[in-house]
Amino acid sequence: MSDTLIEVKDLEVRFPIRSKKLFKSETVELRAVDGVTFDIKRGETVGLVGESGSGKTTVGRAILRAIDPTAGEVIFHTRHEDVDVANLEGEALRAFRQHMNLVFKAGPVQLSSLTGDMLRLFRPRMSLVFQDPYSSLNPRMTVRDIIAEPLVASGMVTSREEVDVRVREIAGRCKLNLEHLRRFPHAFSGGQRQRICIARALVSRPDFVVCDESVSALDVSIQAEIINLLKDLQEEMGVAFLFIAHDLSVVAQISHRVAVLYVGKFVEYAPTEKLFFTPRHPYTHALLSAVPRADPDAAFDPIKLSGEIPNPLSAPSGCRFHTRCPLARERCSTDVPEWREIDEDHFVACHFAEEFDFSRVRSH
Ligand code: SF4
Repeated sequence: MSDTLIEVKDLEVRFPIRSKKLFKSETVELRAVDGVTFDIKRGETVGLVGESGSGKTTVGRAILRAIDPTAGEVIFHTRHEDVDVANLEGEALRAFRQHMNLVFKAGPVQLSSLTGDMLRLFRPRMSLVFQDPYSSLNPRMTVRDIIAEPLVASGMVTSREEVDVRVREIAGRCKLNLEHLRRFPHAFSGGQRQRICIARALVSRPDFVVCDESVSALDVSIQAEIINLLKDLQEEMGVAFLFIAHDLSVVAQISHRVAVLYVGKFVEYAPTEKLFFTPRHPYTHALLSAVPRADPDAAFDPIKLSGEIPNPLSAPSGCRFHTRCPLARERCSTDVPEWREIDEDHFVACHFAEEFDFSRVRSH
């Protein structure tokens, strides 16, 4: 457990939705995330894949406390040496003194219990890189001010000289020229803008960053550049990533472990090699069958799932995948499959996972 950074236990996020019927309106509950349990280690990248509307973004934002979870726990394991006390001033230092035993003591911090100043002080340890590098940068701010904003807002660094040192340092790591810092975002290409977004996310030296479809809007060659940059930054800074994407082949390039989400529930979670070559859940198997292989002799025969992804407002009973699963049996429509470890570090939610052999031949 010592290298565990974040533990997520039975995380639930529900949204009340108002629906209008002929003469009356009623409030129904949308279960966007329903009982998700997993952990992320220090310096690790966990890939999170699933179809649109499966709840990937909601999982990421609930961990960051950008959305308040309805139930469950998010526990962040802290270390004394991570705290940059020397740079705390004013209100931040006062709040730190007041809450240091609770917020910054080494050991587990229950994120869902933090509010107000304590949550604000904790924020620089976690960050987010958005999908769209065009709309996520303020066109009226210089690149220097965009990158500096999280540092200034957190109150951890208040002297302009110190802010400039930190901005130049992270800009260099993200392979931005120093002269870029004086320009405005419109002067940059999509790939360069995403480097600016990454520099902004990492300037406070966080332990954990959610990359929400952060390369999906980029050309393939630029995607590869950004993925390599994220890997280099992880090696240099020891940051952990939750890498959210719908494209499994992209996730495979960067992730140490991969989780598969279906209608708000995890169906499989395993180290990348295991998940790609010995998947145990029929949904993972179907997603993988649609990924083209580098080997021209490898068979490419994608499994076509019938029907649409179910609406989370009326999620199917039993196993949520039973309405589309080609291997479903009678009990699948009534019994919810247990989330269990079937092999070392390999978790799956399927009644019959041990019976299926979806092993794929390695093409390298
Ligand atoms: Fe398919 Fe049944 Fe397994 Fe669900 S529990 S994935 S429906 S076989």
